[in-house]
Amino acid sequence: MTRTAVVGAGIVGLAAAHALRARGADVTLYESGPPGGGQSAGQGRIFRHAHEDPRLVALVARSRALWREWEQEFGVELVSPDGAVAIGVGVEDKLRTLEPYTDVPVRRLSPEELHDRLPLLAGWAGPAMLDVHGGAIRTLAAVAALAHRLQESLLREHVLSVRRTDARSVEVRTGTTCETYDHVVLCAGRGTAPLARGAGLDLPVEVGAHVRLTFAPTDGGARGGAASGRGLPTLQDGSGAFGETGVYAAPYPDGHHFSVGLSGDTPAHADGGLADPAALAALADRTVAYVRRALPGLDPRPVDHVHCWVTRLPWGDDGVGIWSEDGLTALAGHNLFKQAPALGEALAETVLSGTVPGHLHHEERLGRSGG
Ligand SMILES: Cc1cc2nc3c(=O)[nH]c(=O)nc-3n(C[C@H](O)[C@H](O)[C@H](O)COP(=O)(O)OP(=O)(O)OC[C@H]3O[C@@H](n4cnc5c(N)ncnc54)[C@H](O)[C@@H]3O)c2cc1C
Repeated sequence: MTRTAVVGAGIVGLAAAHALRARGADVTLYESGPPGGGQSAGQGRIFRHAHEDPRLVALVARSRALWREWEQEFGVELVSPDGAVAIGVGVEDKLRTLEPYTDVPVRRLSPEELHDRLPLLAGWAGPAMLDVHGGAIRTLAAVAALAHRLQESLLREHVLSVRRTDARSVEVRTGTTCETYDHVVLCAGRGTAPLARGAGLDLPVEVGAHVRLTFAPTDGGARGGAASGRGLPTLQDGSGAFGETGVYAAPYPDGHHFSVGLSGDTPAHADGGLADPAALAALADRTVAYVRRALPGLDPRPVDHVHCWVTRLPWGDDGVGIWSEDGLTALAGHNLFKQAPALGEALAETVLSGTVPGHLHHEERLGRSGG
């Protein structure tokens, strides 16, 4: 039995530990805080199939199938059935990228159907599409189900160092423990690059801080959602019509609260601190201003905040990669929640076969901008 350590119980580490255990590995899952308390924190993420890099679509489609398997396994809804809406000039590119995938139903939305599905949104008569099998990921339910299943593997310890001791084993040192494993998998989010560097792997991870706000519906917004007879879809707004491009939004499981974020973050200093705290506040103010213009169905006073460090790779906002050498594997990237089940599967395969599957080897630059 392969003795494996997974460092980090965010959604990716949880998925990796779950996939490893399902394949018969002996797994210890190290986590310094509450599972899901890092970049995976907060209610709701968007599941969408469209990505600039067509190679990523296949991984995401595989992930969608695995989310369904998890729903069966855990007996809980993990992706809402209400679809993912995108608006703006990028819609035609998205439809073109998804065309070869006959198992990924997508279609254009008329202004009337857009309004029916998303009555919170101000009038928009430009390009709009629906990704039918997209939706809002039930993040808290997913983390809770996996953490519960893995509770016997979970060790509440902060990992200080990881190093190869000989050709066959990798040592993990925490505040109070020191163990060796056949293989160590780093899924520690912001902690991955520093731990990997100590063991000789250099990951070009950039760190920034991000903010996402949640809003309650106005009375009219609540009525609109209920009138359509279905839950709200997620939204990606690349139109620029409401003063911002790169906006994403997702409903809470209650179907009414909507969380809204602007893509972009504010960078960290080399010492790990936030370079410009005022920039984070400005991002929050811009989000409120966007909601006033674009989402008149929401009360523009935020009821909830997610402030979070995010990690990204230099080749794109959806960039993801796996580094693997001699018993040590590390994963880094951004916008990973939707791919987590497939990434967990790929990490387990990497550990057990010694080969990084698909296009996930970092040299392939999966998720690169410009396709
Ligand atoms: C506001 C926001 C909105 C987002 N929207 C989307 C979206 O719509 N769709 C999407 O797919 N993705 C989205 N993302 C991105 C997605 O949430 C992240 O990519 C994903 O959650 C990363 O998961 P992870 O497990 O890799 O990292 P994390 O969740 O950060 O997990 C890493 C874990 O490792 C632990 N750790 C770190 N260092 C150590 C150590 N030394 N010892 C022990 N434990 C350690 C941390 O405590 C943490 O729990 C969004 C992110 C944010 C912040």
